[in-house]
Amino acid sequence: MKKLLFLLLGVTILLNSCQQSCVDEKKSQDHLIMSSLWYQKSGEMKAIYHQCFNWAELRIDMILAENTSETKKAVIVDIDETMLDNSPFQTHCINTGESFTKETWSGWTTQIKAKPLPGAVEFSKYAESKGIEVFYISNRSVDDFDVTLKNLQKENFAFADSAHLLLKSDTRSKKPRRDVVRENYEIVLLIGDNLIDFSEIFEDRSANFGFDIVEEHSKDFGFKFIVLPNPMYGEWEREVFENRKDLNNKEKYELRKSNLIGY
Ligand SMILES: [Mg+2]
Repeated sequence: MKKLLFLLLGVTILLNSCQQSCVDEKKSQDHLIMSSLWYQKSGEMKAIYHQCFNWAELRIDMILAENTSETKKAVIVDIDETMLDNSPFQTHCINTGESFTKETWSGWTTQIKAKPLPGAVEFSKYAESKGIEVFYISNRSVDDFDVTLKNLQKENFAFADSAHLLLKSDTRSKKPRRDVVRENYEIVLLIGDNLIDFSEIFEDRSANFGFDIVEEHSKDFGFKFIVLPNPMYGEWEREVFENRKDLNNKEKYELRKSNLIGY
């Protein structure tokens, strides 16, 4: 009898711990709830996108007034969280506990359902109307080329063709792809939600999260570089996670908390 009671107790403890870890696993992406909610439900988010694209249009007018050279001009834009809204993918991660992997990401991109961000399509058409070409340089994989192009075309972006879409093949640095554009165009403006969308100088953030480099180039923001808001994910997380890819959810949670500044 005593043995049976011990056995039952053991099974109960085991079931509880399994249940707990399943619940924890399901909640492993819950840190994305507030940022995704802000992205999807705040008028402020939409206003900031409009503000940035309105300003980008003004910058085009200013640039064309100052720069009358015959060289063909180009604007470089990023895609994700710059022109297309992938926040439903974050919601999927929150609901399932899955994180970003090549497979989970493809499960979203192949649906060709990403919607344009406020002011993005209009901006691409404005640039076109002023004789400036738009190049889409994204770190989506070249494996996603067809679905990405279809998504841009579906939403009527200007220059949504294979000549204006440069995806990632070997390196996440966008410099080589910017250089390809530079061979035939003068790049007059860059738009993105990640500093690496603008220049390779922002790729290494090992010193003070890259803040000093941002300060050094503070005059370029709003002029050469237009930055859009993405509180959900980004290059900045790498430094928070000490550039480690082997962290489990608990370790990530601890690092997120320990990196916060309190009083
Ligand atoms: Mg992006």
